Formats: sequence, C-alpha cells, structure tokens
Amino acid sequence: MRLLIMGPQGVGKGTQAKLIAEHYGIPHISTGDIFRYNMKNNTPLGQEAKSYTDKGQLVPDELTNKIVKDRLAMDDAKNGWILDGYPRNAAQVEALDKMLEELGTPLDKVVALDADRDILMKRIAKRAAEEGRADDNAEAIAQRLKTYDEETAPLLDTYKSRGCLVPIDGEGDIEDISKTIFDALD
Ligand code: AMP
Repeated sequence: MRLLIMGPQGVGKGTQAKLIAEHYGIPHISTGDIFRYNMKNNTPLGQEAKSYTDKGQLVPDELTNKIVKDRLAMDDAKNGWILDGYPRNAAQVEALDKMLEELGTPLDKVVALDADRDILMKRIAKRAAEEGRADDNAEAIAQRLKTYDEETAPLLDTYKSRGCLVPIDGEGDIEDISKTIFDALD
C-alpha cells in the first residue's frame, strides 16, 4: 500500500499516519520528522532546513525532494509506505510522480483530512504547549496555514482528478477517524 496523507496543520495527520502505518505494516515517512531529527542532531541538512522551518516556510524543493527520493529507495519502503507532509506544492507532486515512475511503483490513495479552522487552531495551541516545537509560535503557525492554503490545498484537486482522493472528516475521536480511514482503504 502506497499512500499520501494530506491536510492542514493540527488536523491529526501525524497521529493518523502512525496508526495507518501500524495497521498496514508500512513505514511512516514524515518529511517534518526527518527535518526535526536533523535539526536536533545539528547535521548539515538540519542546519540548512532550520532557517526555513523556524519561520514556518517550506524548505527548498531540491533539498526536500532529495530526502524523499533517498528514503523511498530504502529497503523497508519496498512493500509500501505512507508519506506525511509531502508533497506540499505542485513542483513536489511532479518530482514525486517522476520518482514513482522510475521505481515502477504507482501511488494507491491519498487520504485527505480536514477540520474547521477553530478546531485546528485549538489543537495547534495545545501541541505548542505540550511539545514546545520551535515553529509553533503564532507567526510561524499563521505562515504555515497560509502556505497550506496557497500551495498545498490546491493539490487535493490534482489527486481528485486522478481518482485517488479519499476525503476524511478529521473532527472527532482518533479511533473513530482511523476506523473510517481503514474502511475506506480496505
Ligand atoms: P510538518 O511537521 O510536516 O509540519 O513540517 C515541519 C516543517 O518542515 C515545515 O513547516 C517545513 O518547514 C518543513 N517541511 C516538511 N515537509 C516539507 C515539504 N514537503 N516541503 C518543504 N518543507 C517541508
């Protein structure tokens, strides 16, 4: 099973992606987690990404596409994966299409979670208090939501027209939402 999970910040993408990964026995590949790991360990990739992520901006495509390409080529990705946080703009969709064509492994479905803006803002504020992420300050949050609306949300239409979009209501209990996702994917 090769999946994307998409949706605005705070919609519960990461939580659902982990549950989907466990359910299908596939790796959960989060570009945000990869950048955070590299920033925490102060690697050259982390140093380059930090100036963008701290401001809530997207890391340049060239760098992002490369980490995804390398990750998808790893052994544990042979039988499927769920990509969380990628692609985030039209150029990344094109890059992913090319990678998958080269690998000969087409995408199966795109799980699209959505919820009201009020709910998203409350969840983001809660996470900021609990996890203290550097990019969970008001300015960076607003920038991330703006980037999502302008660059990422339009990609849902792209996948809808390809017939692989699975829209899911992201409001409600975590377990209920995952059950809805599994039912839709099975
Ligand atoms: P996330 O945890 O997915 O919200 O990602 C945290 C931050 O990592 C984002 O605000 C971006 O700065 C960076 N990032 C994650 N995924 C991507 C991507 N696909 N393209 C560019 N930047 C990304």
